[in-house]
Amino acid sequence: MQILKDRIRKDGKIKAGNVLKVDSFLNHQMDIKLFGEIGKEFKRRFADVEVTKILTIEASGIGIACIVAQYFDVPVVFAKKTQTKNIAGEVYTTKVESYTHGRVYDIIVSKEFLGAGDKVLLIDDFLANGKALEGLAALVRDSGAELVGAGIVIEKGFQVGGDLLRSEGIRLESLAIVESMDEEAQTIVFRDDE
Ligand code: 5GP
Repeated sequence: MQILKDRIRKDGKIKAGNVLKVDSFLNHQMDIKLFGEIGKEFKRRFADVEVTKILTIEASGIGIACIVAQYFDVPVVFAKKTQTKNIAGEVYTTKVESYTHGRVYDIIVSKEFLGAGDKVLLIDDFLANGKALEGLAALVRDSGAELVGAGIVIEKGFQVGGDLLRSEGIRLESLAIVESMDEEAQTIVFRDDE
């Protein structure tokens, strides 16, 4: 998606530890016009599948998922990060290792909002090692719902998540795939660049 790649090049900041900061339009301040274009593009790429629900993870996935959901005309459910104990029974839960914070946390979704019969599209801002998406996919599996695909705004193609999820047969659509980035020079190469 060219306007997204242009924006990443213009405003993205490459930090230590292979972290790409896009706080000015995606992760802190949010460019809603751009989110609208992202929503349209996901709808175009997933035009052939039926979606009844969008599932994301708090916090940074929520804003994007909400705008994307307008193009699919379906509700958004976000998995909550929690430390609450004794929640088994009413919720689906799994563990996720955080890429940016380096710790493990539980994510939950209430059984009230996900179940057999749902056709779920996962939406998230970044794909790195795939832990967040794998966690969401596990919740979908546990609920008996069908996972129809995953839409990612920025995939870091030099990390293992994309290959891992595609090899598991998950239909993955990433709007910008970063092939490599150089912190020193502050340059980014995208997968389909010449
Ligand atoms: P994964 O679970 O695929 O390893 O990491 C994905 C999650 O970590 C995303 O939900 C995102 O919030 C965060 N993340 C991973 N890499 C980056 C990055 O380079 N920049 C930002 N802003 N977030 C990232």
